[in-house]
Amino acid sequence: MTTHYLDNAATTKSCNAAVKAMLRCLSEHYGNPSSLHREGLEAQKELDYAKAIIASALNCDTREIIFTSCATESTNMALKSTAAAYGKRRKKIVTSAVEHASVKKTLAFLSENDGFEIVEIKPDETGKYKAINFLNACDDNTVMISMMMVNNETGHVLPVKEVFNMVKRKFPHIITHCDAVQAFMKYSVNAGSLCADFISISGHKVHAAKGIGVLYVKKGSKIRPLILGGKQEMGLRAGTESVPLIAGFGAAVEVLSADIDKRFEYVKSLNILLREKLEQLESVRILSPIDASPYIISIIIPKIRSEIMLHYLEAKGIYVSSGSACSKGAGSGVPEIFGATSEEADSIIRISFSCENTMDDINALVDAIASGQRDIMHR
Ligand code: PLP
Repeated sequence: MTTHYLDNAATTKSCNAAVKAMLRCLSEHYGNPSSLHREGLEAQKELDYAKAIIASALNCDTREIIFTSCATESTNMALKSTAAAYGKRRKKIVTSAVEHASVKKTLAFLSENDGFEIVEIKPDETGKYKAINFLNACDDNTVMISMMMVNNETGHVLPVKEVFNMVKRKFPHIITHCDAVQAFMKYSVNAGSLCADFISISGHKVHAAKGIGVLYVKKGSKIRPLILGGKQEMGLRAGTESVPLIAGFGAAVEVLSADIDKRFEYVKSLNILLREKLEQLESVRILSPIDASPYIISIIIPKIRSEIMLHYLEAKGIYVSSGSACSKGAGSGVPEIFGATSEEADSIIRISFSCENTMDDINALVDAIASGQRDIMHR
C-alpha cells in the first residue's frame, strides 16, 4: 500500500544527509570528543562542524549553542535556570496560553513549587495575538517571558519578534525565551533580531534524528545546568555528547539552509491546494488561518471523533494526527483558545507537511476524508 505521511509536526523522516552523517559517526568517527587522541579529535571536529552550521542558522556565536537531548530539555533548562537565577524577587512570568506542554508544565511546576505567578495571554476573538497585550502584562515584577513562534497544533504564528523587542525596550531586565521548535528552518529564527535570551529547537522536526535538541543561550546570560557531571558543553550540559545525533542535526540544517524560502513556497502551494479541495467537502471547517504556518493545517470534521477519523485514514495508509503528538490524543485546550467549540475540538485532525509531500498525498487525503465522512456516518 502506498503510504502518505502527513504528520511532520510530530516528527520528520531523517534526510539522507543526516543519515549519512550519523552512520559516519557511528562507524568511523566513533571516538569520544573528550578523548585526547586522534579518534577523539575526529569526533570533536564533527561536533564543532555541526555547531557552526546550527549557529549560522540562528545567526549566533558557536559558544551560544548548547546541545541537549531534545527541545523539552532545552525549555526546561531555560525556564528553570532563569527562575533560579533571576527569580528571587521578581515573581511574574508572562507567556501565551497556547504553549507546548514542555513550557506549560515547566511553568506550572515553577508556580506550584517556587511561588511564581504565571500570566497567560490569550488571542483575541479572531484567534490573533496582539503584541501589545504581552507588553501590557509585563511590569517591574516580571522575571521572564516565554513565547512560542509557531503553534504546533494549528500553525498560528505568534508575534514573538515584536513582543520581545517591545519588552526589552521597556523592561530590559526581563529575560526572553522562545520555543522555536515548529518555526526553525521554516521561518527566520535570528537570535539577535528576535531579541531572545534563550531559544529552544529540536532536531527531529527538521529531518534529523530524535533525541537531539539545542538551547541557544545569549552571551552573558546566567544559566545553570540541569544535568551535572563532566565538562561537556562548557560544563552546562554534562554527559558524553551524542556525536552521531549532533552530526545528523548539523547535516540536516545544512541541507535545509540552502533553500528555506523555496521549500516554504512549495509547502505553501500544497497548503493552498489542500484548502481549495477541503472547501469542496461538506461541512469541513479549517481552523488554521490563512496566515498560519503553511506546514501545519488543523481541520474540523464535524460529528466524527478525531481518533475514529485518524484510524480510518491510517487504514488507507494516510498518517495524520489528532492534535499535539505529546498529548497522545488528550485535549490540550489549544483549539478552543483559537476558536473551536469543545465539540469541534473532539473532531480535529492535524495535517502537517514536509517538502517531501506531493499533490498525490493531498489527493489521497481528501478522497479518504470524503469517503470517511460517508462510511463513518453511515455505520
Ligand atoms: N515545542 C513545540 C512547539 C513542539 O512542537 C515540540 C514537539 O512536539 C516540543 C517543544 C518538544 O520537542 P522535543 O520532542 O524535541 O522535546
